[in-house]
Order: sequence, then structure tokens, then C-alpha cells
Amino acid sequence: MSKDNELSNLIKKEIENFDSHLQMNDVGSVISAGDGICTIYGLDNAMYGELLEFPKNNYGMVMNLNEDSVGAVILGNENEIFEGDIVKRTNRVVSVPVGENLLGRVVNALGQPIDGKGEIKEDDFFPIERKAPMIMDRQPVSSPLETGIKAIDSMIPIGKGQRELIIGDRQTGKTAIAIDTIINQKGKDVICIYCAIGQKNSTVAQIVDRLKENDALSYTVIVNASASEAAPMLYVAPYSATSIAEYFAIDGRDVLIVYDDLSKHAVAYRALSLLLKRSPGREAFPGDIFYLHSRLLERACHLSDEKKGGSITALPIVETQAGDISAYIPTNVISITDGQIFLSTDLFNSGQRPAIDSGLSVSRVGSAAQYKSMKQVASNIKIQLANYHELLDFSRFGSDLDSVTKSVLTHGETLMEVLKQKQYSPLSMEDEIIDILIAQSSMLNNIKKEDIHHVLKLTHMYLVNNNEEVFTEMKETRLLSEENKKKIYEACQHIIEGMKDE
Ligand code: ATP
Ligand code: MG
Repeated sequence: MSKDNELSNLIKKEIENFDSHLQMNDVGSVISAGDGICTIYGLDNAMYGELLEFPKNNYGMVMNLNEDSVGAVILGNENEIFEGDIVKRTNRVVSVPVGENLLGRVVNALGQPIDGKGEIKEDDFFPIERKAPMIMDRQPVSSPLETGIKAIDSMIPIGKGQRELIIGDRQTGKTAIAIDTIINQKGKDVICIYCAIGQKNSTVAQIVDRLKENDALSYTVIVNASASEAAPMLYVAPYSATSIAEYFAIDGRDVLIVYDDLSKHAVAYRALSLLLKRSPGREAFPGDIFYLHSRLLERACHLSDEKKGGSITALPIVETQAGDISAYIPTNVISITDGQIFLSTDLFNSGQRPAIDSGLSVSRVGSAAQYKSMKQVASNIKIQLANYHELLDFSRFGSDLDSVTKSVLTHGETLMEVLKQKQYSPLSMEDEIIDILIAQSSMLNNIKKEDIHHVLKLTHMYLVNNNEEVFTEMKETRLLSEENKKKIYEACQHIIEGMKDE
């Protein structure tokens, strides 16, 4: 057979095999692939955010719609994608499996299990990007989300449906606050989602162990896009996690979601954007970096009763450099959230843990949701601490202090000591109120600093044994009656006197 003949036969065969269903609008071919990004020729009808199918079970997501090509991020193994590979449209946007069976599991940014406990039977698939609920579908924040951390529940109360930023330098206890809050939701009917973005796998494994030890894993989903994964997975993770949360919230449940952390998320998105050749702006972040986080955090809210009244409370975490909260990403996220918990390295190193800076921390909506009983004892703590810190700086210069100054300093010291709290030991609201009530009286002012926590512990034990009704009443009425106050003071007095005799 001549060469010409051979060629025409080949073409004929190809034409016979041509699949007429497959239009060029729906397929494309890879021009280049690398660094988690792929440029594709064809795919004329592709949508923004659409899932693309690559050979060998790899997937991608459309991010750039150019005139003659499509830019996509690769959600899979980019080493298996080569120039000339055929890419198909799927006609659906990137979705994650959602449902009850995700509880207690660790999944990746696409909702696939990575904990070796087998497959997860999903109840549904949700697109990773969903519209935030409309204003009419929301209601104001009205009930507290108890963190179990004295300093937060008293000074910076968080309500269900609120977005509260946890911000601070590295190693200041940001993750610890989030994990303690998750542990404290035990028996409170709140579903928790911990979304790790760019963390080490070993850190996430430790967190999973800690949650398991504290019986908190059964109501928690962990979404992990670790530092070792490609930027697209880190970019997608918080959106996926929020979709998993929304499944529960639209069913009328309360959900708490932690994004640990959004600085790494922003960095991953910057890498993607630069590779997609989008123009860089301030700090080389792309122009839509604000929208990246605002559309994510807007999805957290308290749904109206017509929408079953569920809620998503979001605790995004942002890392600062040398305490600079006026950098680009911190200011963005501060302006999106309803307040921030600022953790200070100095306080942390001086042993004040959790290292919450009461001056820079605020909660803009949470006090509407704070229990009356807590308000009764905690309403002026912030001012007292501000006075204390002001005088503390001042008193370093002078030696002779008048008695008023001295008493403000002693009281401030007592308060600071009482607000110290160990990790993994969240307290009930009643216990917190008792501690703060005692700290607000002058009873502890003559106690040595190292004995304060001992006194508090014994007082609790005394009350549990002798005045159980104090706790039940507080739980029922959410008020602190004068009678109960007296009982608490008496218990504390009893303990202090007992210690003197020793
Ligand atoms: P990174 O920037 O590395 O993510 P981080 O700000 O999330 O750090 P953590 O990992 O939560 O900080 O905490 C740092 C260290 O401080 C940990 O070893 C943790 O055990 C300890 N720590 C955190 N909170 C407390 C606390 N209340 N009491 C005692 N130790 C604490
Ligand atoms: Mg951390």
C-alpha cells in the first residue's frame, strides 16, 4: 500500500470513529501544565468554577476564561497531565459530598476521606461556592456560643452566627483557643468544623488526637489541606468546609467553623493568581483578595426562623508579623468580621495564657447574646483592666504610690491571674461566673498570686457539695440572684479562712 493510501485510510477510520456528541465546545487539549495550573485550548463553553475532567481521574477547576484559552487549577496529580491531553467539561461546578457521615472524619479539600477509615456515604453534593443567605433570610445574633474560656466569654462574648477573628503572631495560642472552643461544645448540640489550611500534617494529626481524647471528634469534621499539598487545594478548602457546614445549618442546626488560617489561604491564592498571570497589587496580592475572604465569611450567619433558625459561627484565624494588625490581610479580615480576639506575644511569654489583649480585642455583636448573669459580673472588667495597664506602665517610674493606685494595681493583678486558664480545660458558664464574681470582690486581694487558682478550685468544690442549687438556678434563670451571690461569697470566705488555719 502506498503511503498516500495509508494516510487516507487512517483519516477515514478517524472520521468513522468521530463521536458526534463530542463537540469542540465541550472538550479541549492541554497546552501547558505545571505549578498546579493548566492552560487549555478549546472548551469554548466552559463556565467559571466548572469542574474539568483530565485523563487518569484527575480534575481541575476553571479560573480564567480567556479569548482563546482557558486557565484552570489542577485538583489532583499534575504529574499525570501532559501537553496534548484531552480535557472534558463536566457541566457542573466543583462540589463536595456533605452529610451526617462526615462527622468524626478527616477529609481533604474535595471532601474525600484521608483518615483511612474507609469511604463516606454522602447525603448530598453541594457546590463549594454557594451564595450567602439574603438579608431577609437572616436574624440578629441572639444566643451565646460558649467558648469555655473565661477571658472570652466575659469580655469578648461570641454569639451564634457571629464572625470573630482570632489574630496574633505565630505561637501565641491561636489554634488553642479554637480547639478549646470545639471541645467546649460537647453536649451543646453544636456541630464543629475545623478547616486546616497550610498546616503541617503532624499538627493536624495531633489536633485530631486531642479532639478524640476529649470526646469531641464525634461531632466534628476536619477538613485538611496541608502545607504539602498544591496551592489549589489550599484555595478550595475553606469553601468546601463552609459547604459542609451549610448542610447542617440549613437543617436548623448550629455550626461552628474554624479556618486555621486565612493568611496561608491568601498566600495560596496569591500564588495561583500570579501563575494565572493576573496582575499583582499591594503586597503582590491580586485585586480580588478582599472578595476572596468576604464572600467566604458572609456565608456565616444566623438564619431566620422561616429558614429553620440554624447558624454558622465562624472563627477565622489570621497570623500577624511582629504584632502588626494594620498589614494588608489583617485589616481586610478585621473589616469583614464582627470583632477580633488579639493575642499578644508579650503576654504569652510573660505567662498570661490565653494571651488575650483586652484593649485590642472587641466583639461587636456578641454582647447582645451574652447571658444576663455574665453581664452582671463582667460588664466592667475591660475598663478595670485598661486602668490597670495604664497605671502599670506609669507606676514603673515612681516608687511612692497612693493607696487608690495601689488598690487598682492589686485588683488588676488579681483579675489577670483569675483570667489565666490552662489549655483543654474549658469551663461551664456557671463556673466562669463564679470565678469572676469572686475576682470582682476584694476577697482575693490578700491571697498570694500562686494560691488564687487553688482557692477558686476549692470554692467550686465546696459549692458543688453544699450549694448545688446555685448552679441549677443559674442555669435555669440565667441570672445571678443576690442570695446566690451571698452563698458564693460565703463559700469563698470559708475556704480562705480554712487556708489561714493551715
Ligand atoms: P502557630 O502560629 O504555630 O499556628 P498558634 O498561635 O496556633 O501557633 P498554638 O499552637 O495554639 O499557637 O499554641 C502554641 C503553644 O502554646 C502550644 O505549645 C500550646 O500548647 C501552648 N498554649 C496555648 N494556649 C495555652 C494555654 N492557655 N496555657 C498553656 N499553654 C498554652
Ligand atoms: Mg496554629
